[in-house]
Amino acid sequence: MLVIDIRNIPEDGVLPLEGALDGDIAGLPPEDPVQPAGPLTYKAEASLVSDNLLLRGEFSQPFRLQCVRCLAPFEHRVRLVGHSLLAPLEAATRIDLTDTLREDILLALPSFPHCDEDGSGDPQARRECPASGDFSTDDSFRPLDPEQDEDDGPDTWGALDNLKLD
Ligand SMILES: [Zn+2]
Repeated sequence: MLVIDIRNIPEDGVLPLEGALDGDIAGLPPEDPVQPAGPLTYKAEASLVSDNLLLRGEFSQPFRLQCVRCLAPFEHRVRLVGHSLLAPLEAATRIDLTDTLREDILLALPSFPHCDEDGSGDPQARRECPASGDFSTDDSFRPLDPEQDEDDGPDTWGALDNLKLD
């Protein structure tokens, strides 16, 4: 739960908040192929903007997704940077931003996850999707059996003859 007590926010100032949400706020059904793979971490600043509570910062959570191409499970980190959550102040002193945050995190999940996009932005962490790539033969393709290789001229046969002599 991400609950902020607005009485802790200094007037004309910000309240720095940093931590991790234990427990699964995603609330996805267990049969869903998308599952959280760790806690949601946040580093943000809460402030009061007119009649709203503003929480702005970075929110991040790893998820376990299934690649739509090769069906392999893989980890993808949702990262919201410079993200703002806004909630009306109303009469409450403690404001629960969990639902708002959950919605934004789930919206940031890829609709068509590919296992070569882990969300980290780190090219070193990039893996190759085994189902990606082009399976058609290209111009460099040559049959292995020389009897089927009609494009290469008699030079090929000459080279083969030399090999036999050796
Ligand atoms: Zn894949």
